[in-house]
Amino acid sequence: MSAPEPVTEDLLRDMPLPRHQEGEDKDERGRVLVVAGSVEVPGGALLAGLATLRAGAGKVRIATCRSVAIPLALAMPEARVIGLEETSAGGIAPQEADNLATRMTQCDAALIGPGMVDSRAAAALTAAVLDRSADNGVPVVLDAAALRGLRGGPPPGHAGRLVVTPHAGEMATLLGMDREAVLADRLDAARRAAAKLQAVVVMKGGCSFIVSPEGRAWASDRGNVGLATSGSGDTLAGIIAGLLARGAPPLAATLWGVFLHGEAGARLARRQGLVGYLARELLAEVPPIMAGLA
Ligand code: AMP
Ligand code: MG
Repeated sequence: MSAPEPVTEDLLRDMPLPRHQEGEDKDERGRVLVVAGSVEVPGGALLAGLATLRAGAGKVRIATCRSVAIPLALAMPEARVIGLEETSAGGIAPQEADNLATRMTQCDAALIGPGMVDSRAAAALTAAVLDRSADNGVPVVLDAAALRGLRGGPPPGHAGRLVVTPHAGEMATLLGMDREAVLADRLDAARRAAAKLQAVVVMKGGCSFIVSPEGRAWASDRGNVGLATSGSGDTLAGIIAGLLARGAPPLAATLWGVFLHGEAGARLARRQGLVGYLARELLAEVPPIMAGLA
């Protein structure tokens, strides 16, 4: 097995992001559906939603628990926020799967998972949404608790258009392994998940590995320990979803997303110090980094 290639600026220049014409409207810039948040962690939806727009998407709809929908909409006036039925544990009810699968067809990319704390409900909801959206062609990012919806195996009809973004604990659940076994060889775990799910996998950590469904691997150590902070992964997932909505293919969106997230952390660390910057502060860094690579 060949060693992973580094994620460099040259690599990204060879897979440029879609360019937008002057006359394009916000629908053409890309529409994202973010299914995220819970009563206890509405901020996961907020960070991921903001990240989609900072990555250049034109429009975001956030689907979240009914009781947090209005405060979330006020916190993010750029978003349309859809309030959904909620579980007694403060998560999104799995019965909303049909509704969400229909809404997905009106979007160019979807993200499911950030801030969803009722993990059983998140697993059932995600599995049902994937089942009802087979063959609709919309690329999907799965993060955090939504990854539990894949434990039954690869969802039919989604090969090649899934991006999954687990940290070591989530990867262990995904593969039915111990976390220690994942940590012993994170790249191997990423390769196995990519082959099993026919997905682009980001194995997150101090160094992140990206593996394509065909088994090609990249490594990025551009970030720093300051990225080990609440909400950091939510912003990464949102950036990737925003790039997908703009029309970037799953692998390019993922390599760009990991680079932008790591470089945002590097810039904040230079200005503010290695630890103590906030996940939300990563977001304003993203547009100038993208512009610098155009
Ligand atoms: P999450 O655990 O979902 O919040 O995601 C954390 C994000 O921060 C991922 O993108 C990780 O790759 C990144 N990260 C976590 N710890 C480190 C570290 N020590 N150095 C660089 N990046 C990190
Ligand atoms: Mg996370």
